[in-house]
Amino acid sequence: MTFEETGLKPEILKAIAEMGFENPTPIQEQTISHLISSKQDLVALAQTGTGKTAAFGLPVINNTSMEIREVQTLILCPTRELCLQITRDMDKYSKFILGFRTIPVYGGADITKQIRELKSGGQVVVGTPGRVHDLIRRKLLNISAIRWLILDEADEMLTMGFKEELDAILSTTPKEKQTLLFSATMPTEIASMKANYLHDAIEISVGKRNAGAENVDHHYYMVHAKDKYETLKRIADNYPDCYAIVFCRTRMETREVAEQFMADGYNADALHGDLSQAQRDYVMGRFRNKQLQMLIATDVAARGLDVTELTHVINYSMPDDPEVYIHRSGRTGRAGKSGISVTIINLKEMGRLKQIEKISRKKFERKMVPGGDEICEKQLFHLIDRVKNVEINATQIEKYIPQILEKFEGMSQDDIIKHFVSLEFNQLLDYYKNARDLNVRTEGGRDSFSRNDRDRGSDRGGDRLNFTKLFINAGKKQNLNASGLIGLINQYSSRRNVEIGKIDIQRKFSFFEVDSNFEKDLVNALNNVVIEGHVISIGKVESTAAEAQPRENTFRREGGGGYNGGGGGGYAGGRREGRREPSFSDRGGDRGGDRGVDRGDRPRRRRN
Ligand code: AMP
Repeated sequence: MTFEETGLKPEILKAIAEMGFENPTPIQEQTISHLISSKQDLVALAQTGTGKTAAFGLPVINNTSMEIREVQTLILCPTRELCLQITRDMDKYSKFILGFRTIPVYGGADITKQIRELKSGGQVVVGTPGRVHDLIRRKLLNISAIRWLILDEADEMLTMGFKEELDAILSTTPKEKQTLLFSATMPTEIASMKANYLHDAIEISVGKRNAGAENVDHHYYMVHAKDKYETLKRIADNYPDCYAIVFCRTRMETREVAEQFMADGYNADALHGDLSQAQRDYVMGRFRNKQLQMLIATDVAARGLDVTELTHVINYSMPDDPEVYIHRSGRTGRAGKSGISVTIINLKEMGRLKQIEKISRKKFERKMVPGGDEICEKQLFHLIDRVKNVEINATQIEKYIPQILEKFEGMSQDDIIKHFVSLEFNQLLDYYKNARDLNVRTEGGRDSFSRNDRDRGSDRGGDRLNFTKLFINAGKKQNLNASGLIGLINQYSSRRNVEIGKIDIQRKFSFFEVDSNFEKDLVNALNNVVIEGHVISIGKVESTAAEAQPRENTFRREGGGGYNGGGGGGYAGGRREGRREPSFSDRGGDRGGDRGVDRGDRPRRRRN
C-alpha cells in the first residue's frame, strides 16, 4: 500500500513526502485506512519506533473540520517529552493546512502560558493526564465536543499512576467519539480499560513488534554480579564509537553507575526521575545532539526520548518483564540501521534470559567480555582512524613545521609514530595490563569459575581514585580556560600532585573534578580569593553534571558536532608543577596545556 492509496489529503501527502516518508509502516497501513473510513474504536499494540504517531496523527488531521472552533481531538500521553514530540510531529504533518493548531499542555510548566494558548484556539490538544485533568476541572479546557480521543502509551500512563486522572477525564468526554488506545504491552489493566471505555473495538497488533527489531543482534555477557560495572567499561572501551543508552533498574542504580562512569572519564550522564524537568531536558538535549555518547537511564525517564541512531542498547540490569526488554532493544536498529542489544547477566539470571528469548523469539548470542589485548587493539586502530581523519588546520600549523621537524631530527618514521601513539595510549595499556578474565565459565550450566579466579577478583575499590565535582564562579567571560584553572588549583592548593579530572568551562562558571582527598583543602584555599577584581566562589556539586548545569542552557561544546569531535570538556589529567601569579588566563605552566584540553579533543578516559 502507498500513502496515496490511503485516501489522505494532498496537503498531508505533500508534508510527509517532505519528511521523507515513502511508504506507510505496517501500523500505519492498518490504522490510517481504518480511521478514514470507520468510526469504530481501535486498540493497537505498538511501540515507539513503529510509526504510531503518524498512524493516529495523519488520519486525525485528515478528518478534522477546519470550520469547527472547539477542540476536536484530545491526545493523552504519559510524559512531557512525548507530549512535545507528538506536537512537533503533528505540526509537521499539518504544515500545509492553514490554521491547523496542536496545543501541548503538560505539568511542570507555566500553566498561564498554556491557558493563553488554549484560549487562542486549536483543533488538537496533546497533554499529560494530570495537567489535562487540572485544566478541565478549572473549566479552562472543554472536551465536551471532541470527536477523537487518543490514549498513547496507555500502559505507561497506568504505570505512572495516572489511573484516577484518566478515569476522571474519560468520564467527561462525549459518548459519541472514536477512541484509539495505543499500548506497547497488554496487561490486565489495559484490558479492563478497553472493556470500560472502548466499544466494540477492533484490535490490531503490528506483526513486527518494532520496525527495526529485525536488524537487532542480541548479545549477552555472563559475569559475576560484582563485575558488572567493570564489564560495562570493557564494553564501552571495546566499542569506541558507540552511541548508546545504558538501562538500569532503579534511580539509585542509575545515579550510582552514572556517577562512577563519569568519574572514570566516560562521556556520559544520567537520566532518571530524581532530576528536575529542566535537568532532564538538558541531558536529553545533549544526548540527542551527540554531545554525550552514553546515557545511563531508567526505563521511565528514557520514554519519549526519540533517538533513531543508537548503535547499542545496554541492559546493565535485565528487566523483569520480557516486554520491557523488547521495548528497550527496539530502540536500536532503527531507520534501516543495524543495532546491538547487550545484556550483562550473572549465572542466576540465565533463566530469565531464556524466558525473554522464548517470548521475543530472538536468539541471544553469548559474547565473551573482551580482554585487555583485544580492547587495546580496538582502541589503537580507532585512534589511528581518528588521526587519519582529523581536520588539519594547515594555516595555523604550517609555520611550526620547520621547528617541529628539527625537534624530530634523527628519529625514524616508526619512532615518531610510536611516540605519538604512546602519548595517547600508555594510560590504556597500563590500565589493561594484566586485566583479568571477567567471563564466568559454565559447564553443563554450573559455574566452574575457579577459586583462584575469585580471589583475584577483588579489583574494584582498592586504590580506585574518587573524584569530587566542584563548581567555580568563573568561566570564559573571565577568560578562564582549562590551563588557567589548573594554574589556579596549582597556586592555591597546599599539596602537590593533585589529580584533576574532567574540566567543563562554561560562560560564567565552570566545573571540574578533583581528587576527593583534596576537595576541602582546595575549597578553603580558593573561596573568597580575589582575582582580577573577581571574588572567587567555589563549592562542591552534590550531584550529576546535569543537575548543576541548567542555569546556562546555551552551553555548546566547541570544536564541532559529534561526540567524538567535541571540545570544551576534556581531561586535564596530569599532576601539577610550578606556581605562578594568579590570573584566569594563566596557561598554567603545567600539563593542562600539554594534554590538549581546550583544543577540541574529545574527553579522555581516565581508567581507575
Ligand atoms: P514513532 O513510532 O511515531 O515514534 O515514529 C518513529 C520514527 O519513524 C519517527 O522519527 C517518525 O518520523 C518516523 N516515521 C514514521 N512513519 C514513517 C514512515 N512511513 N516512513 C519513514 N519514517 C517514518
